[in-house]
Amino acid sequence: MERLLGNGELKASLQAAFAADRISHSYLISGPAGSGKHTLARILAAAMQCTAGDRRPCGVCLQCRKVFDSVHPDVITVDEPEKKTVSVDLIRRARTDLYIRPNEGRRKIYLIPRANDMNASAQNALLKILEEPPEYGAFLLLSDSPEKLLPTIRSRCVSLHLSPLAERECVPALSAAFPEKSPDELHRAWERADGYYGPAAALLREGQALSAQAARFADCFAARSRSGMTALLVGMERLKRDQLIQILNEWIELLADAIRVRTGLPGSSGEAVRLGHSRTVAELLGAVRNLQQAAELAKGNVSVGTICGALQGQLM
Ligand SMILES: [Zn+2]
Repeated sequence: MERLLGNGELKASLQAAFAADRISHSYLISGPAGSGKHTLARILAAAMQCTAGDRRPCGVCLQCRKVFDSVHPDVITVDEPEKKTVSVDLIRRARTDLYIRPNEGRRKIYLIPRANDMNASAQNALLKILEEPPEYGAFLLLSDSPEKLLPTIRSRCVSLHLSPLAERECVPALSAAFPEKSPDELHRAWERADGYYGPAAALLREGQALSAQAARFADCFAARSRSGMTALLVGMERLKRDQLIQILNEWIELLADAIRVRTGLPGSSGEAVRLGHSRTVAELLGAVRNLQQAAELAKGNVSVGTICGALQGQLM
């Protein structure tokens, strides 16, 4: 259970359920990319197969070890990663396979890592299995947008949602994985990744290089180029919502860095230094506020195009 960072409440309730042998047949694990969905799925699968009497999953019995090493014959991944969707054929094949008893485990577990990429017919095929599985059958559905699943599927699963990590939960793990990074870099990666370990680790691996959009934003904002800023924002109108949010967060971080430069601290990129020398603190703060507001709107129902349009009038 300690393999999953943070999520204390979720872990405590699962531990209590495992101890009481209340393990459901189907779970829907949700959270953004890098939030620990696969880790939690392995923990659940191990708890189902574990042969230890108490404190399941024990992590040391043969069944647990096979699950955690991804070699358990009765934990089956249902996916064709090279295809865009999870097809109805794939679900039907799983259904046929389900009626062959487990090889060695107590359960036969089907892991569907891209559950939200099932189209309607695949979801309906899955629903039929979820309605009447054999007693040893189990399903672990992973999704970053569970609202795309049929309500009838969701209602048949125990829903487990992964939360962002507190700084004290995330930073020590990042520090162990990236011992060469400074406490400030670790803190910023945690912050920019909205508290999720996977994206924070990815930022640290990439050396926190600025994205192309951030570099252009810095150029235009430092030079007060209205036409440059308009062109940049028009080019962003077709982005997906989460891509926009990621870029806005990066710009906010860049501006915060520029403000630190203005107060005499070293900047972590050439762009931050240039911004800090060409704009006042009030101007930088004003832009931060506009971008924060835009990021908030992007989390709601306002369209990406509308947000980019509004920013054209605000960022000058
Ligand atoms: Zn075990």
